[in-house]
Amino acid sequence: MKWEENVRKVTPYVAGEQPKQSNVIKLNTNECPYPPSPAAGEAAKQTDYERLRLYPDMNAEKLVNALAEYYHVKPSQVFAGVGSDDVLALAFMTFFNGEKPVLFPDITYSFYDVWAEVFRIPYRTCPLDENFRIKKEDYFAPNGGIVIPNPNAPTGVFEDIGMFEEIIAANPGSVVIVDEAYVDFGGRSVLPLLEKYENLMVVQTFSKSRALAGLRVGYAIANEKLIGYLKDVKFSFNSYTMNMPAIEMGTAAVLDDAYFKETVGKIVKTREWTKAELSRLGFSFADSMSNFLFVTHKQVPAGRIFAALKENGIYVRHWNRPRIDNYLRITIGTDEQMRALVAFLEKYLQEENND
Ligand code: PMP
Repeated sequence: MKWEENVRKVTPYVAGEQPKQSNVIKLNTNECPYPPSPAAGEAAKQTDYERLRLYPDMNAEKLVNALAEYYHVKPSQVFAGVGSDDVLALAFMTFFNGEKPVLFPDITYSFYDVWAEVFRIPYRTCPLDENFRIKKEDYFAPNGGIVIPNPNAPTGVFEDIGMFEEIIAANPGSVVIVDEAYVDFGGRSVLPLLEKYENLMVVQTFSKSRALAGLRVGYAIANEKLIGYLKDVKFSFNSYTMNMPAIEMGTAAVLDDAYFKETVGKIVKTREWTKAELSRLGFSFADSMSNFLFVTHKQVPAGRIFAALKENGIYVRHWNRPRIDNYLRITIGTDEQMRALVAFLEKYLQEENND
């Protein structure tokens, strides 16, 4: 068709499957296995539905203020959005506007190249080393921006703040985005570097450690000038992104710090148990500081294990991509779910060995 010549054609991001059946063990999209804070549920009940005839606060001030207080920054340094995907997409549009390529790891969150393509941003991927570690020198080359998750996804590998400081300091001409979607599970945030560097933006989410993937809340923290530019683009694109219930429930979740810490603590404990069990079964993995493990088995190919798990109602994630096609990403669920996973694998691997 002639009109198709003018269409913006892209290959969309492929999210993990959301199975329709409810009796599956779902360890494929890094969701939290526990419910969100009861305070968030209470806030939802108290939200007056009649108020929904009005537009929401386009600055999400209540939520922004709660986050600013929690992280000891000024409200003008915080930007809230509809999940960190929304925040990251806007950041790509706002800050990656040069001619030089934006840099990110070759094995990383698979949305980065999709945003680069949709916004026509030139980019170059930097190969992780054989242990899935970032080679910092790769990021000392001329570039139009940098985005790196820490811990990285889907590897779970955490890099020290010192490495990020070197990258940020070496790139005063670019905005460096550190995507800390998984930082709460034992990593350390680069937030303290904000005092020293103007070109740093930290992005976090309520989808993992705060168990609110379905609410869609994410945020960026940076210096106020950078946040100002982000807001200018947001208000030039779609002003009323965050709905009223999300602002209310998100705020309540931030204020319930005890629940947050308890949930994260449980997941970290289960993760460490799972690491030991999977090692015993012949899996190996880089040490993970996130709510998932990225594992490979010494004998059985990942694709086969993936199919066997799925057939038995256990969903994990597998990518048919270079360098990672023999790996599975397994989200940490409840103790019970992880026991069921380990029990299944134990039996399955024994049968595979006997064949
Ligand atoms: N960054 C990384 C590294 C992720 O894995 C995810 C989750 N898919 C996100 C950002 C986006 O999460 P959300 O939009 O739910 O905040």
